[in-house]
Formats: sequence, C-alpha cells, structure tokens
Amino acid sequence: MFTRKLLNSLQGFTNSGELPVVSLYLDVSGADKSAKNRYEAQLRSMLRETAGTAAEWLQMSREQKGAMMEELDTLGGFVQMEFRREGARGLTVISCHGAGLWQELRLGVPVPNRLFVDWEPRIAPLAEIRGNHRDLCVLVTNKQTSRIFHAFAGEISERTEIFDCVPKHHDQGGWEQSKLQRWHDLEVREHLKRASDATLDFFRREGFDGIVIGIADELWPELERVLHPYLKERIFGRFAIDINAGSGEVLAKASAIENMVIQAEVHELLDSLGPALEAGKHYVGGLDDVLAVLNQRRVDTLVTEEGFADSGRRCFSCHSLTWSERTCPSCGIDSVASPDIVEDAREAATRQGARLMTVEPGSEAMRQAGGVAARLRY
Ligand SMILES: [Zn+2]
Repeated sequence: MFTRKLLNSLQGFTNSGELPVVSLYLDVSGADKSAKNRYEAQLRSMLRETAGTAAEWLQMSREQKGAMMEELDTLGGFVQMEFRREGARGLTVISCHGAGLWQELRLGVPVPNRLFVDWEPRIAPLAEIRGNHRDLCVLVTNKQTSRIFHAFAGEISERTEIFDCVPKHHDQGGWEQSKLQRWHDLEVREHLKRASDATLDFFRREGFDGIVIGIADELWPELERVLHPYLKERIFGRFAIDINAGSGEVLAKASAIENMVIQAEVHELLDSLGPALEAGKHYVGGLDDVLAVLNQRRVDTLVTEEGFADSGRRCFSCHSLTWSERTCPSCGIDSVASPDIVEDAREAATRQGARLMTVEPGSEAMRQAGGVAARLRY
C-alpha cells in the first residue's frame, strides 16, 4: 500500500555518484483485454522519446547516458514480462540500479503517464495522489456487528471486526416484553460503545485524516450518543450499507464522501484565490512569480490548472528555477534549459513540503492567476 513513509524514503534518496534516476508513472487502468496493449504501447513511446532527449537536457557524460539506457531497457522488460496488474490502476517504478534503488508500487488510482530521468527520484505525482486523497478510517456498524477499515487512494483493508451477541427483539407486548426491550436497547448501546472505543483506538494509533461511517439512518442517533467527541469532530460523512457488504462496496461509498470533501476544498480555494490575488495577499499567480516564491521556499500549496505547461531553466547547483534567466539569480552560474518547468516546480514544491493541487481548466480564478498560483506560508 502507498504510504507516507514510502514517500519520505524516496524523498530522502540521494546518490553521490550522480547516476541518473528513472521514475515511471503509468496508467494501467481499464478492464478490457486491450488495456495491456495500450499501456505497453504508451510506455514504448515514452521510452523512445526519453532515450532521445534526456541525455542532452541533463548534460550527461557518456557513462551516465549508458547507465540511463540500461535503466530504460530494464524498465521496459519489467513492464512487459514481469508486471501483473492484479487490480492495480496505476504503476510507479523508480529505479537507479547503480545506487541499489528499485521501487515498484501498484496504485489503486490511475496516474497520468510520465517518464522522468533526473538526478533524484521524481515524486510529485505521488505527492499529488496524497494531496487529492484522505487517509480514511471507515466504521461500518449495525446493532450487533462492527467492522473497521483503512481506506486510501483506491485501496481498502479491513482491520477489526467486533461482534456482540445482541438477541433479536420480538414484539409480543406485555410487561415482560417492555423489560426485554429495555435490555435489548442497553445491549445495543453497549455494542456501539465498544465499537466507538475500538475505532478511537485505531484512529489515534494510525493518525487518520477523518472518519466515514456506514450505518442505517435509524441507528445513527444511537451511535451519535456514544461516539467519542474526538471522532465526532472528524466525521467526513456517513452512508447506509449492509453490514455484510464487500470491501469494494465500502470503498466506493467512502470514496464518494471523500470526493465531496475534496471538491468542497477546491471550490473554497478557487473562491478565495481571485480576491486574494487582487489584494496581493497570501497568494501569487503567474509562472514567473510562483517560481520566485518557490526559490524562497515560501510555498504552502501549489495550484496548477490541468494541462498548463511551459519550458524554463533550472540551476543544477542550487536548484533554483526560473522562466527565462540564463544565469542563475541565486548563485550566478549558467542555468540549464528545462523542457517542463511546471513539473519541475511541482517537484520543488513537494520537496519543500507543500501540497499540490491540480484544478480543472476553465475557472475564472485560474485564468486570472495565469494557469498557476501559490499559496504562501508567510
Ligand atoms: Zn543556482
């Protein structure tokens, strides 16, 4: 499963020998038989293009170019001969054999097709998946059974099941019956209390972003009464579902709620962006200004319009990025042309801990921002 720890370890990778690192992101989604042919053809075309251009962009020595060609060959062979989708919708492989790095990762969500060669792993597409999803704790419960799941980015795993023997209530009337009813209600409340405690324990241990609850509408007030306030504050939403539902169905319902949460965040951001740019507060817009604040490490969130791309220049010494400066404004050495400065900006933002967001084209705020905007830390 794709975790924060994995992202951190890739970010921490360094290779003193300056060997090229290859980072592949491949969309392997699609249920039909032609999907395999499609993504293999896509990879072949990316391998061809990268082999033809990367050595020049990165000003590689003959040895470095040789190492890169070997990495690309191995990668092509792996995808064709060894990789099995087994339900994955995205594939990431990051490799630098000379430095002992080979990291393959199956993803539950598709990724845009990209093949990078650089001196470090390119992790922005993974960081963006993190930015677009929430680590979810999912509690599915009825009167006698509770199931607890962890869901993230198209993957789900079931962690705990709590089963309490609560006898079914039969309505037969009479004094004896009302006593039985009270006893039954107490048992249900006890079960829900145990479910709440177990969920709280799991939630705190794993450090989730929020909780989603699968429960019948008529039982919800009962759970709400006993649910710990810490969990109540972190509810993203709830849905009705059968207690025996398959994990795929639980994931689909939880993801729909997560999606609404993310969409609301995007709308809020776009609503505040226009006025903030006009006031010159908290945000900068436009590639030139965004690169400047990235170089100052002041970016909290980098917002890019889908499809926005440009070329620019990067400094291999101090990692400064500029749109057009031929000499690095920070350290004064010659900068090097970059074919995709927007992706370089996303990578730089990721490495300074900023969140990445990509928004659909067509919003007035992003038009005003010129396709790219940065929310500032200070
Ligand atoms: Zn520099």
